[in-house]
Amino acid sequence: MTGKRALITGVTGQDGAYLSQLLLDKGYSVHGVVRRSSHAGIFDHRLKWLGIADRITLHDGNVLDLSSLARIVQEVRPDGVYNLAAQSFVTASWQQPVLTGHITGLGAVNMLESVRMLKPDARYYQASSSEMFGLVKESVQTEATPFHPRSPYGVAKVYAHWMTVNYRESFGLHASNGILFNHESPLRGVEFVTRKVSDGVARIKLGLAHELRLGNVDAQRDWGHARDYVRAMWQMLQQDTPDDYVIATGRTTTVRAMCRIAFAHVGLDIDDHLVIDPALFRPAEVDMLLGNAAKAHAAFGWQAETSLEAMIQEMVEADLARLRTAG
Ligand code: GDP
Repeated sequence: MTGKRALITGVTGQDGAYLSQLLLDKGYSVHGVVRRSSHAGIFDHRLKWLGIADRITLHDGNVLDLSSLARIVQEVRPDGVYNLAAQSFVTASWQQPVLTGHITGLGAVNMLESVRMLKPDARYYQASSSEMFGLVKESVQTEATPFHPRSPYGVAKVYAHWMTVNYRESFGLHASNGILFNHESPLRGVEFVTRKVSDGVARIKLGLAHELRLGNVDAQRDWGHARDYVRAMWQMLQQDTPDDYVIATGRTTTVRAMCRIAFAHVGLDIDDHLVIDPALFRPAEVDMLLGNAAKAHAAFGWQAETSLEAMIQEMVEADLARLRTAG
């Protein structure tokens, strides 16, 4: 045991689950902030899937409520704080732009304030996002590329990003932004396109569905595996000096090509099943994302280890297994 304590908001999400697993393996005691809902209990199915639910201490709180975060920081006295909580689905951010601003933007400030007031020597990680690049100003995006977000989610992330920089510069907090490009896994929510595809392809393979409806399949993303990306979060907090880092694979792929990988894995032809649905197009689109993670590689040797093919195949296999068990 290192005796070190980590505090994670968004602990029940994809990244929270993989990060918890990594930190437990490194000997940390892991504490998570959870919203308790009176009717639904705790959404800890991802922690259960990884077999770590009973090894994490959960604290009732909400990033919208500074007093709850302050109480938890006082109780836990964390060495590292990872702010992963967000309303992170771009489409939903147009339906709930104000709530998205509160959770994704101001939520980060509530966490930063709690750290500044009560545990200023704690190291802080902010989950920044490639969605901040939006209408990209350079064909390959780095830490120096200007932001032009294209959704309420992206705008809220820009605010949280700059507040993190300001807390570092103004108060000397060890606060770092990880500008993570899209990262996926079997634990991704089905509202995101990779998981919608892996789930849809598995359903078609098992005869539970015949078609897969998608929106803009010409969009391009730089997709990596969440398991690789949470390692970068921890590494950022091990650096002597806090800083901002792009985390990406350096390879971009269209939604259509990603989808083709999934269909091919189960021996099906994409053209027999893919339906383009104009209702699924977005009011403003991020056409292309492609990141250069050279800075993180130079600073702490980080690079993506899982190929897109291996990741999509892992996701399809996980959905096939889940659907077979459910049936
Ligand atoms: P994002 O990059 O954070 O918005 O991640 P998503 O996985 O939600 O979307 C990635 C890209 O896939 C975007 O350009 C979407 O427009 C595109 N896309 C096309 N069809 C769909 C769909 O049915 N669902 C989602 N979520 N995205 C889709």
